[in-house]
Amino acid sequence: MDLVKELIQLGTLHCFIWNQEGYLFDSTSNSVFSCSVQDILDIKEEHPSLETIQDIQELYDHGYFQEKPVHFEDNRIYKSLCLIMTRNCNFRCPYCFEKGKSNFSEQVMEPQVVQKAFEFLVQQSGNRRVLECDFFGGEPLLAWESIQYAIALSKKIELETGKRFRFSLTTNASLLTPEMTDYLYRHDISLILSQDGTPENHNRFRISSQGKPTYEEVMGAILPISQTWKEGYYVRGTYTKKNIHFLQDVQHLYAQGIQKISFEPVVSEQKDIGFCTTDLPVLKDEYQKLSTWVLDTLSKDPDFSFYHFEVNLTHGACKEKLMTSCGAGVEYLSVSPEGDLYPCHQFDANADFKIGTVFDGITNTSIVETCKKCTYLASKAPCVKCWARYICGGGCSANNLRMTGQLLTPWDIGCEIQKMRIEAALYVQVKRNAMTKIKK
Ligand code: SF4
Ligand code: SF4
Ligand code: SF4
Repeated sequence: MDLVKELIQLGTLHCFIWNQEGYLFDSTSNSVFSCSVQDILDIKEEHPSLETIQDIQELYDHGYFQEKPVHFEDNRIYKSLCLIMTRNCNFRCPYCFEKGKSNFSEQVMEPQVVQKAFEFLVQQSGNRRVLECDFFGGEPLLAWESIQYAIALSKKIELETGKRFRFSLTTNASLLTPEMTDYLYRHDISLILSQDGTPENHNRFRISSQGKPTYEEVMGAILPISQTWKEGYYVRGTYTKKNIHFLQDVQHLYAQGIQKISFEPVVSEQKDIGFCTTDLPVLKDEYQKLSTWVLDTLSKDPDFSFYHFEVNLTHGACKEKLMTSCGAGVEYLSVSPEGDLYPCHQFDANADFKIGTVFDGITNTSIVETCKKCTYLASKAPCVKCWARYICGGGCSANNLRMTGQLLTPWDIGCEIQKMRIEAALYVQVKRNAMTKIKK
């Protein structure tokens, strides 16, 4: 038992029951083994059978559940920018992170800022060829001319430098015209389209600046895309306490013909919107049902994708890479409409986190050092022994700051949701790929 207990404490062995089936997960090799529910219950109660202990010992002797030392050299360089084209928006979603920062100021990013931002990125990215930029907001389509300017400029820079720009655009979709959609398709711009599910759930929070529901106009723009683009888009929903049973929202989107779907929990201090400990069992039940439905849908429609269940168990990144998370402030920066640089969009307009400007470059290196720490797994004590660490990557520093007041203190509710989402993803991938199995 000592070995089993030790492996669990180290976060290399994780035992879980999903949809009445038992699983052992080896976080060091991303391997999943199926076993009986009784075995899992026995392990959790610290009374595993001799046979289970022997099986785990045997796996251990074959190299599983063993952490290999990782020598991490921080060679990270900037490769991505989030371009906040404007903080303005034609919606007033109550859970919006932009709300309260700038009162939706109308300033848009001028061409001169775009140009300097690209020069900065090219210069900082060293030998890296592919550079990524997301057009973000507020609602970025309110700065459509600047977006077109940026795309045209990128073509010129590509010819001059041999670099390659990859763009995405995050939008509430309401302002998308067929001409814009066509332009974005021709220029290979990936779309992240925000939509919250059924008319009732979407219209609860995604309301226009005039206080009107937006379901019809948003779906009117999204559906032609889902019907004609095979790839290159995701419809991303946010679920809150009000639609904790968000499976119906995923099913609603799929029933409309949308095949690329992502749904994420809201991060909110508001008690009627955000999640608390008592919501976790309900959410777990919902993720179990969702995983069953996703598997069933995948069996009939291989083009369907639920973003958060797309965990790659066979060709994961190297451990050095997995020791780092999103790269905010280290590999990735947000650029405000004025040209100020922040670790990411969530820190935008927070003077304590201003790293520099696109005109002067990085001027506050101490924030960069803080970000290096925040985006490195080993800096966060709870992450070091968390079984989900190499898939989670160590969470979101912005959410930590918002919900715990500390960049390096993971937000416990967020961690619990993340872990149940990973269990669901492991279950889906095991069922899908018939992964390594030991018969017990
Ligand atoms: S659409 Fe996006 S940017 Fe606009 S208010 Fe809603 S969450 Fe905020
Ligand atoms: S942020 Fe939470 S879930 Fe992610 S690795 Fe750290 S402790 Fe685990
Ligand atoms: S800190 Fe959080 S919001 Fe910012 S880029 Fe990282 S994961 Fe995203």
